[in-house]
Order: sequence, then structure tokens, then C-alpha cells
Amino acid sequence: MGQNRDVMLLKIVVAIGFALVLYTFIAATLRKFHMAPPAEPDPEDILPVDYGYRCGVCGATVTMTMAPQGELPAAPRHCREDMDLVSAGGAPPALG
Ligand SMILES: [Zn+2]
Repeated sequence: MGQNRDVMLLKIVVAIGFALVLYTFIAATLRKFHMAPPAEPDPEDILPVDYGYRCGVCGATVTMTMAPQGELPAAPRHCREDMDLVSAGGAPPALG
């Protein structure tokens, strides 16, 4: 009977150890998915723009009025598709 109890105790210890290993593994995996939020944009870098976008699926249009300085910002999405740039403040869009 004493041996039976030892086996039971061993099983409990192994189960607790296994649970701890599993918990550590899951916690470490979840930590990898946690990403730091992107840095706040510098208000100085955001300039007024006039980009017109049109959804190629439903025809909805959007005007972008502020964008980071420099390159053309990524097109917004509508109907799960990138919208088409149709105007850039009167000037031809500087694609590249
Ligand atoms: Zn759309």
C-alpha cells in the first residue's frame, strides 16, 4: 500500500511539473506575440496633403488631408482592397 501511495505522489509531482513547463512555454509563446505599439508620430512631420482615393470595388471615395512628410503614404483599404489614388492635390501622384 505504501508503494501505491509513492506512485500516486510521483504522478502528482510529475503532473505539477508538466503543468509548470506547459504554463512557462505558453507564457513565453504569448510574449512573442506582444509587440510594442509604434512610436507616436511627431506632429511636426504631419503635413497637410490632398490625396483622393477611390475604392475600385464599390466606388467610395476618400480624401486624405494630413499625411507624414516625405513619401506617398500607403493607400487606405476599402472592401478589403487597397484604394486607388485618383488625385494628389492637383499634381500628378508621385508614385515610386
Ligand atoms: Zn469599397
